[in-house]
Amino acid sequence: SNHITGHTGLLCLLGSPVAHSVSPEMHNEACNQLGLDYTYLAFDVPEDQMPKAVEGLRTMGARGWNITMPGKNIMCRLADKVSPASEISGACNTIVNDNGVLTAYTTDGVGFMRAVAENDVDIIGKKMTLLGAGGAATAILVQAALDGVAEINVFNVRDAFWGRAEEIVAKLNERTECKVTLHDYEDPEVLRASIKDSAILVNGTSVGMAPNTDRTIITDTSMFHKDLFVFDVIYNPQETRFLREAREAGCKTANGMYMLLYQGAASFKLWTGQDMPVEIVKEKYFSK
Ligand code: NDP
Repeated sequence: SNHITGHTGLLCLLGSPVAHSVSPEMHNEACNQLGLDYTYLAFDVPEDQMPKAVEGLRTMGARGWNITMPGKNIMCRLADKVSPASEISGACNTIVNDNGVLTAYTTDGVGFMRAVAENDVDIIGKKMTLLGAGGAATAILVQAALDGVAEINVFNVRDAFWGRAEEIVAKLNERTECKVTLHDYEDPEVLRASIKDSAILVNGTSVGMAPNTDRTIITDTSMFHKDLFVFDVIYNPQETRFLREAREAGCKTANGMYMLLYQGAASFKLWTGQDMPVEIVKEKYFSK
């Protein structure tokens, strides 16, 4: 276990709630494995207390931190510098503190892209259908567009967040080569046509997450086809109804577990410059 001394550096997670998070175990294990002198703690901080927490961490010289809900948007505004992905989405999940200068990054989308690649699926230059435009979906959307996915159709309900999604889509069309279009779910044939020539279908919504495991965002399973890779950001349950029905239709599938692992690995790399020993972390904390 960690041998904490006067030299030990601080990494942490800010958000509320945080007690359930696997991040402390993942990062402390990685630091132990590599002999890095950091310790990672979780702090329950509500959104309105984020400015104070950030000034404290900056003053105390913490090396960096992760941010989970509800702090992902406000943290972006508290940072001194913002990565391109965080600037486009207005959200971040990672801060790196370089001698008091705070830079905001989003590694959720990086984690998604790596999780897809590790399934031996190549989506660069291909078409994606993405369901949802919330936090997780937006991180995926932005990174996929930046990394060279050719075309992304985003589906979302026309609600309070529609305008925000429109702004992000407009920025991506302006700044990347990716052709991004926002749709609602009104006409199921538009969704069917999009899925038909997509290489990947992603559930980026919370529909089907425990305890509502009987729900699914795709009720018409004839939309699945064998050449489709189907990804769900949800990892509880490990196989949602959406993933089960896709698998039964002959699709290759993956849940959000390794997206979570690889977002952590990407943050770890930003703080320490080192590769997280993901196989060890997988076996200890992400085994099925
Ligand atoms: P948000 O609340 O930001 O987004 C939820 C999304 O789901 C929104 O797009 C929302 O649409 C949509 N949605 C909710 N209910 C419905 C419905 N009935 N029909 C259609 N769309 C619906 O949450 P997050 O993005 O933070 O989390 C979403 C899921 O992703 C959770 O299950 C979470 O556990 C998981 N997650 C996984 C991660 C990973 O690393 N694997 C990382 C982060 C999250 P609208 O905008 O209209 O409200």
